Amino acid sequence: MSDDIVARYENVSKDYDGVKVVSDLTFDIRRGEFLSLLGPSGSGKTTTLMMLAGLQSPSSGNIFLDGRPIVGIPAHQRNIGVVFQNYALFPHMSVGENVSFPLRARRTARAEIARRVRESLEMVQLGPLIDRWPGELSGGQQQRVALARALVFDPSVVLLDEPLGALDRQLRENMQLELKQLHRQTGITMIYVTHDQGEAMTMSDRVAVFDQGRILQCSAPERIYNAPESRFVAEFVGENNRFSGTVETVDAAECSVRTDDDVRIRAVHGGHVAAGDAVQVYVRPERIEVGGAAATRDNSFQVPVLDAIFLGDHTRLKVAMPGHPEVTVKRNFLDDADDLPAAGQTATIGWSAQAARVVTH
Ligand code: ADP
Ligand code: MG
Repeated sequence: MSDDIVARYENVSKDYDGVKVVSDLTFDIRRGEFLSLLGPSGSGKTTTLMMLAGLQSPSSGNIFLDGRPIVGIPAHQRNIGVVFQNYALFPHMSVGENVSFPLRARRTARAEIARRVRESLEMVQLGPLIDRWPGELSGGQQQRVALARALVFDPSVVLLDEPLGALDRQLRENMQLELKQLHRQTGITMIYVTHDQGEAMTMSDRVAVFDQGRILQCSAPERIYNAPESRFVAEFVGENNRFSGTVETVDAAECSVRTDDDVRIRAVHGGHVAAGDAVQVYVRPERIEVGGAAATRDNSFQVPVLDAIFLGDHTRLKVAMPGHPEVTVKRNFLDDADDLPAAGQTATIGWSAQAARVVTH
């Protein structure tokens, strides 16, 4: 296992009472990255994290940390920091005592403890609150203390399970930025569980999309968004228009798909498609152009406009295509200035083959 891999799951499965909740998971965590585990509730994200933390053990498979197999090694000997939404501070300890706890457990020298606790609390901007009790802190401050406690012993990895889930939106967004900054500043590997795709997309170097105990795709946010490899990923992250059809012809990067309603669409494929394959084609609402240049695109259609809603920074159109009564188009106000159609009118819409993505499963 090379040095730039901090942890590895190898064919890891977990079942509870015969029900598989994590299924044959194999993936690497790169040293220094911010990796998000994104997926709906119940898809196995927490269980995956718990097995790395040592709070659950796999039913089968292996997990490595810094090159060593760790299954069977107790949690406190794993050099992993954890911040869980429900992994509360010790209420009977002051902020300083909470943060020093992992160091005291490791029998670190007293002067060293004092220095590290101060540093950690400063990192999360809570230096002055060292003598407070957890009960005297806001939810956001408590999670900052939990973060300081997770960082204080210089762990190999910090695991964060929906740590901002209980905070209100404004605070959550501020803390996202702070956390991201802290990641940049410390360079510590962070694994972040969330069911919030916006959060995963804005914070992460890579996103692992979970569904039913499996990782369907693990890549940079841009690729998750622009090059989804499955229906689930295409539909879970952001808005998408879907056309189902059959591949007619295949070129190096593009192919032609005839939809079930006889519409022909040029789209890019990620390889592994052949004429006759049943596929889905996805087009993001913001990639569909309207009027003017739309007529010259690889895919261009005359469509009735069912609805046009002005939303300030963009306008959302609903148009009808054969077999697709509700195709969503999202136009930036500045892109199209005055020439967006109104409901009841006919419009020309279009998109390039590059904007349409074929997905085979
Ligand atoms: P997520 O974090 O993605 O919401 P979890 O890993 O918490 O998913 O849970 C995955 C599945 O495993 C869920 O169906 C959940 O009910 C089940 N599960 C989790 N923990 C236990 C447990 N201790 N005993 C039995 N079932 C569990
Ligand atoms: Mg969870």
